Amino acid sequence: MEKFSLTDIKKKNLTDVYHYIYDNPLCSKQQIANSLSMSLPTVTQHLNNLTEMELIEESGKISSSIGRKAAAYSAVSTAKLAIGIDISRHAVSMAVLDLYGKQFFFDSRAMEYKSDTDSYLDQLADYVKEQLREHDLPLTRILGIGLSVQGLISSDGQEIVYGVILDNTGLRIDRFREHFSIPCCLLHDSECAARKELWDNPELRNAIYLNLSQHLGGAIILHGDIQHGIYGRSGTFEHMTLEPGGKKCYCGKRGCVDPYLCAAALTEDKITLEEFFREKSNPDSPFYTEYQTRWGRYLGWLGLFLNNLHMIFDTIIVLGGSIPTFFTESDLEEIRKIVYEFSTFRDETTFIQLQRTDVGIRSTSHGAACMFIENFLMNQL
Ligand SMILES: [Zn+2]
Repeated sequence: MEKFSLTDIKKKNLTDVYHYIYDNPLCSKQQIANSLSMSLPTVTQHLNNLTEMELIEESGKISSSIGRKAAAYSAVSTAKLAIGIDISRHAVSMAVLDLYGKQFFFDSRAMEYKSDTDSYLDQLADYVKEQLREHDLPLTRILGIGLSVQGLISSDGQEIVYGVILDNTGLRIDRFREHFSIPCCLLHDSECAARKELWDNPELRNAIYLNLSQHLGGAIILHGDIQHGIYGRSGTFEHMTLEPGGKKCYCGKRGCVDPYLCAAALTEDKITLEEFFREKSNPDSPFYTEYQTRWGRYLGWLGLFLNNLHMIFDTIIVLGGSIPTFFTESDLEEIRKIVYEFSTFRDETTFIQLQRTDVGIRSTSHGAACMFIENFLMNQL
């Protein structure tokens, strides 16, 4: 039988008290004692320790018709913060989240990706330091920094093992990490977006998450967790073959899903997604017919692909990323109708859902930060 020392038990009780307060803001000492079956003096001791650690605070009194009003305790949401950074070819964005996953601040700026990775990572670190200074945030309050990138990452989160979009296979995070004395890791952007969806939609247990953004990506969610697979390639739907010998993919192959469902399939790199969706829904626009045709073609490929995915994994398919942020209810209905037409079993197609998270393109930076908050909440204090 496993033996626990007195210190282990104290630490576990301290963590339990913190989690209770985190889940039940404005609770009283008596409520904590009753719910956790602890004596009042023990709870008092843990409350003192947690207050000293600046993790909880007294936030008012609980109204009572009898006797003295009891103090109400809450977790300090900004006691610790986590940083998520999204890296793309022309820009970076940085989300700082509190312990409840709420955005503390967000910033984005133009920053060209450089093939001289040392100088790029130094520039990125300077940007983070500048933001922390500007918001008066000491590093001691930061749980970690997650860098969301368009590529596959080694299992220890330290190296890009497949990064063709920015030609950065082999890039290691060491140079960036040298600037900070806190955990830093690389994360696959699609997994970050899926993680954000899981954070906002915790009842989601099994799902396919499709990240329809500048490029396509995905993740498989099983039992409430993201599946990585043997080689960390689970959910790389973008390189499944949709049309043998078809359009050229950035990976070098022809006919992969990505070139059919990436943003450029709609915008052809000449307009923004916003312009495309505005004009394709405006019958008075000179581009209406052209964009409707393009949209119809896109929906055809999307419907075919979604039906294929559904045949593999009979579960919810969440459409996330920047493209679905422009989908209207009628767009979603159209997609469901096309999937129904492809379906062998004529299933209900309500399994196709739009992402719950309302942060849109910020979901990758948010998701990169979420990982550190989850770790903090899962581990003992
Ligand atoms: Zn490909």
